[in-house]
Amino acid sequence: MSKDKVKKREMVFNGIPAAPGIAFGEAFVVNVEELPVFTDIIEEDEIEGEVGRLQDALTQTEKELSVLHETLGESMGEEHAKILDSHLMMIADEFMKKETIQLIKSEKLNAAFAFSRVIDKTLRTFDQMEDQYLKERAGDIRDVKRRVIRNLLGQKVEGLANLRKQAIVVAKNLTPCDTVGFNKKYVLAFVSDMGGSTSHAAIIARSMGIPAVVGVNEFSVKAKPYDQIIVDGITGQVVLNPTPKTVALYREAQVKFQEMERELLTLKDYPAVTLDGRKIELSANIEIDEEIDDVISHGAKGIGLFRTEYFFMTRGTLPGEEEQYRYYSNVLKRVAPDPVIIRTLDIGGDKIASWVDDSVETNPFMGWRGIRFTLSRKDIFRTQLRAIFRAAVHGEARIMFPMVSVVDEVRQAMTICREVKQDLKKERYQIGENVEIGIMIETPSAVAIADLLAKEVDFFSIGSNDLVQYALAVDRGNSRISYLYNPLHPSIIRLIRDTVQAAHQNGIWVGLCGEMVADARVRGTLLLIGVGLDEFSASAYLIPEIKQIIRSVTYDETRLLVKNALVLSTATEVQDMLDEYLRDKRPELMDFVPKGPV
Ligand code: PEP
Ligand code: MG
Repeated sequence: MSKDKVKKREMVFNGIPAAPGIAFGEAFVVNVEELPVFTDIIEEDEIEGEVGRLQDALTQTEKELSVLHETLGESMGEEHAKILDSHLMMIADEFMKKETIQLIKSEKLNAAFAFSRVIDKTLRTFDQMEDQYLKERAGDIRDVKRRVIRNLLGQKVEGLANLRKQAIVVAKNLTPCDTVGFNKKYVLAFVSDMGGSTSHAAIIARSMGIPAVVGVNEFSVKAKPYDQIIVDGITGQVVLNPTPKTVALYREAQVKFQEMERELLTLKDYPAVTLDGRKIELSANIEIDEEIDDVISHGAKGIGLFRTEYFFMTRGTLPGEEEQYRYYSNVLKRVAPDPVIIRTLDIGGDKIASWVDDSVETNPFMGWRGIRFTLSRKDIFRTQLRAIFRAAVHGEARIMFPMVSVVDEVRQAMTICREVKQDLKKERYQIGENVEIGIMIETPSAVAIADLLAKEVDFFSIGSNDLVQYALAVDRGNSRISYLYNPLHPSIIRLIRDTVQAAHQNGIWVGLCGEMVADARVRGTLLLIGVGLDEFSASAYLIPEIKQIIRSVTYDETRLLVKNALVLSTATEVQDMLDEYLRDKRPELMDFVPKGPV
């Protein structure tokens, strides 16, 4: 039997559903890991060949970077493509090349090892530099090193830049930056071995409407380039080499899913109000300005979380005040008269920017993150606040601080806001006067002192992604322990209930901008209505579904569900109780409970 007649066996994998939708396509396996390099002393007569290999690898890397530059320019705009300018400059650097060749010749080192030595020496020099800008270039150098070494070792694994036709991206892990750089024209879906449903790569896939499944153990090893794959981002199933029968079943499920999506979109202009008249503000989360069209077309009223860090992460240098002012103004104008909650920089955790001092932290999610970072880099904080207050004249801006754990942080941030406003007035800038300022409630400490925090600010927005992570002590990106990451856990419902009570007793409004509705879908949404939140914000693609659920129930019945949940002991008991209610009282909402065809 000839090789291509060998029929590949169908295999079904179960992962974590990360972004809804069903996709069919060929695997495009990418490798973003750094490869190990070993010393290899070469013979005299091998030197010439080794130098040639170095030259080829540099040329190949330059080609890849140019394609990536072009792709990024097409999908994200020229400004974002600039992030690669310094990579391209580095690869063309004659000095680096000469030094490597010198090492190959004098010490008879293999090209990969010699190149590593040269780059590592440069990196050490950069690490010792005082100049912040130059220090920030270290991340770019590491990236160039990884690419050149991969080419030198002849690893024919693909880089995302090489994706020039529609395919399903398969990777061990993806960073938020990889995902935000996806070209929607080509990426049909993605599957990763690692990650959780609230890791930022997953959140972005949701925002972009790209189906995704994460935490599929060793999938990137099992899937080979060009294998056929089905990705079911609703249930978390991934089928490798599906049989015609499985393809037919999923085609049916895809048609059903698309019909449901179309039908839900007809609710676009209807309010999010329960059958007994309780109105909930329904807004959307965005990472980059390109998502605004989706926010509007999916019927969200404003933006409940603008993750501004992506503007900072998708470029090689820090954006200045004018650039930020233009960016925020544009978002505010397009969304006006609806509000935009602009969250100040939430760098850290799994969100890394190349311009941040890249010293490795043992516990990045509990480290230099959110408001902790901005309070220690007041230059960056002030610049961002100046840009927001100035932009606020163009729409309904609100400001929100992330990762608050103590009152002092809020007081310090509020003082800086007052100073920034005064400075701007002195400098005769027009500014937004009545900008509401709020905080995210995403640490258990913030919940415990929510009554105190409520006295300092105008509103709360619960960040359930982090709240679940910190309350249950479960890394949101770790697929091994993802079974513990459950927003339906009684501890989470109690924390949310306490936050809502503290906010209302102190006369401020409270929303939720975490992915709880994406994660726990209809079950989570029912509890969030019943707990008395004033606002929900989620990925634009989920807005129609949430609206339909809100419009199908009474506030009273959801309050009763919360009351029942609060006396249960486990997440499974809460889920069973909610499922029984759905089956008995609202069977039409069972369509929103994910179930797959195989
Ligand atoms: C959250 O933690 O719930 C949140 C909305 O913030 P992020 O996902 O950006 O950490
Ligand atoms: Mg958070």
